[in-house]
Amino acid sequence: MQGEGEGGCCLYSDVAIIGGGLAGLTLAALLAQRGQRVAVYEADRLGGKLRRLEVGGLSFDTGPSLFTFPGVWHRVLARLHEHSDPLNLRLLPGGLGIHHTPFGPVPLPVPPGHALYADWLRVCAAAAPVAPHLEILLTTPPRLTSAAFLRASAALARATGPHLTAEGWIRARRVHPALAHALRTHALNAGLPPADAPALYALLPALMAEQACRPAEGMGVLLDTLHRFCAARGVQFRGAELSGAVRRLDAASGTLTLDGGEVAQHDLLISAIDPARLAALRGLPVHSPVAQRTVSGVAVYAAFSQPVPLPATSILPPTHFATFRAAMRVGTLPPDTLALIHADGPRLAVLLTAPATARPLTPDHSWVRAQLARVETALGVPGLLASAVAVTALDPAHYAQGGHPGGAIYGLGFPAWRGGPLHPQPYRLHSRLWQVGTGVHPGGGIPAILGGALIVDELLADRSK
Ligand SMILES: Cc1cc2nc3c(=O)[nH]c(=O)nc-3n(C[C@H](O)[C@H](O)[C@H](O)COP(=O)(O)OP(=O)(O)OC[C@H]3O[C@@H](n4cnc5c(N)ncnc54)[C@H](O)[C@@H]3O)c2cc1C
Repeated sequence: MQGEGEGGCCLYSDVAIIGGGLAGLTLAALLAQRGQRVAVYEADRLGGKLRRLEVGGLSFDTGPSLFTFPGVWHRVLARLHEHSDPLNLRLLPGGLGIHHTPFGPVPLPVPPGHALYADWLRVCAAAAPVAPHLEILLTTPPRLTSAAFLRASAALARATGPHLTAEGWIRARRVHPALAHALRTHALNAGLPPADAPALYALLPALMAEQACRPAEGMGVLLDTLHRFCAARGVQFRGAELSGAVRRLDAASGTLTLDGGEVAQHDLLISAIDPARLAALRGLPVHSPVAQRTVSGVAVYAAFSQPVPLPATSILPPTHFATFRAAMRVGTLPPDTLALIHADGPRLAVLLTAPATARPLTPDHSWVRAQLARVETALGVPGLLASAVAVTALDPAHYAQGGHPGGAIYGLGFPAWRGGPLHPQPYRLHSRLWQVGTGVHPGGGIPAILGGALIVDELLADRSK
């Protein structure tokens, strides 16, 4: 075992990863591929926000449902020398889905012949210069010495400038209000309303509408695949049944204290958990102001006896983004919230955006009932959920258990000028303690956390040269 010693040697051969979500598993596989001995400590179940749930005899994959920027995943496969892709990614029928805006329905991508097609083409043209660079921004260490990173950042600055926020960029496009409303909705991919989200998020619909996909057998295959990649490379797992919950962490000595008091020591510790949770494990002050938290949600999973008569993806935005934003900031329930609806055979998933207050919100809560009725009315299927065989919901209280404070989906949101690829990305907290995951990539979904794992793998490899 070789650790970082007095002479500054940086080869870590024995690595502990705290958190077995997608970020922790991806980095575990990458480091094990380099021959490092890796142990993953997971407090609950591998997969974190992506896990399987049984509802009415059907298996549902919880958490992410859209797999975007698959090129980032292909880079993970290439680094692992995996020559075939077990995910069998399929383009989603209907792309990003129908957006039921107050100004009328908007399909994204807008198809030729549609009244909004010309406006959509202008949005796509404004976003296009970023397309060849986005994957680089997601996967390249943000170093001022990196020509690729600088070129990609410059392309982004040219396409978004002088607008800092998604709202500013969308207004400047002067598109039809229905299309503008649909674009604003996607700024919420940052977990932030459009007036707070970095301008990059306004470009995302144009950059990903043609390539939104999902594994043919469901998102759970991503978890299975990462698990298999780890196991094949000798990664050790400490799961719930083998006290994988870390209770204390000392970066200076590389020591973890587990549930039950067992102590484990490693050359290098990598946190793949929320930064506020990590701070608590280190005995540091925890600071997570509610106003900076990204949104949480109520995910409703319904099983039916027949295929659900809805398109694969429908989106119901809030009527007024300003009202929505005010509610999220103070932690109250908005009058009408963003709803993402995914239908897949007899399975229906409805994700209602809710403030990150760790609040329990069951399907019979009056706000949840009102939001679900709004969804049914907008989609023209009144009473649909009442005909479900079984319904189960995950709420902010659930997401808060193993994740970010309040159950925020994406950790803390920073001001627009520090968001997206421009945020500080504190991968290295101490010579023996690094971090990956959504906490390091506020607003990032799967592409950002897979990309973050590639970046940390590369930075660690460079240090060991
Ligand atoms: C409802 C919902 C919908 C989403 N939709 C999309 C989507 O469509 N597309 C997309 O790209 N992204 C989406 N996301 C985001 C995506 O799911 C996350 O970015 C990703 O799953 C986060 O992975 P992670 O590994 O960073 O964190 P997590 O999944 O939170 O994993 C952290 C792990 O650490 C463990 N842990 C915590 N504390 C400890 C401890 N003390 N000791 C040991 N282990 C610990 C937890 O149990 C957990 O397993 C969605 C998220 C949600 C919740």
